Amino acid sequence: MPLYACPRCHNIFPSPDKPSACPDCGHRRPLPASEVEFDAFYAKQLAAIREAYAPGMSMDERNWTKVLLFLNKPRASFFTSHLLRNYVLNATPELCVDTYKGYRWEFSRMVKQDRIALQLEGYQESKLLMRREDGTPLVKGWDCYGPALRLLYSFEAVDPHKSPNLGNINGIDLQKIAAEPSEAYRQFLLDWLEAVKDVPSPMSFIIPEAKPLLKLMKKDDK
Ligand SMILES: [Zn+2]
Repeated sequence: MPLYACPRCHNIFPSPDKPSACPDCGHRRPLPASEVEFDAFYAKQLAAIREAYAPGMSMDERNWTKVLLFLNKPRASFFTSHLLRNYVLNATPELCVDTYKGYRWEFSRMVKQDRIALQLEGYQESKLLMRREDGTPLVKGWDCYGPALRLLYSFEAVDPHKSPNLGNINGIDLQKIAAEPSEAYRQFLLDWLEAVKDVPSPMSFIIPEAKPLLKLMKKDDK
């Protein structure tokens, strides 16, 4: 169902047709949700699903699910469900590990990019890490830490006072997550797939040429 956003109260809500007013504040001109608003709406739902299963997962799995959610934007849900179905859930452990390695490579690349940007702003990461009560790291220039780097700093670690680095990404046992996932992790993937498999891709409205490709992918999904 298409999403709309209220410019006054910032409420985001689904509606089959163009709504005449915001259901929350009655503002007369809700607008189609932007890609950012679209992502925010679904990201909240997916984060809640992850939260529900997190206690039953291993620490590696909890960190890894953060990476997976970060890299799969809700606006690309069509591709996400294809990947989850054929390259993770129904794949051999070997194929699944390969898929995960692709994600790890991409995430590491983004972290490196964020670090270069941080250095260009004149900030250095320190080896020791203090945190505020809400868990945010107490570091100089936190506003200049890019989204991938911030995610890395949200990783759980054996020693929470050591700043995270690429070792925290490379140390995740992908082989184990692919071959012997916990029941909670697997259930998280299944619920995630269920939540996004029918999410409309805003892209498919913008690029009609992509539609035949989407149809083709749907076919081999079965
Ligand atoms: Zn409103």
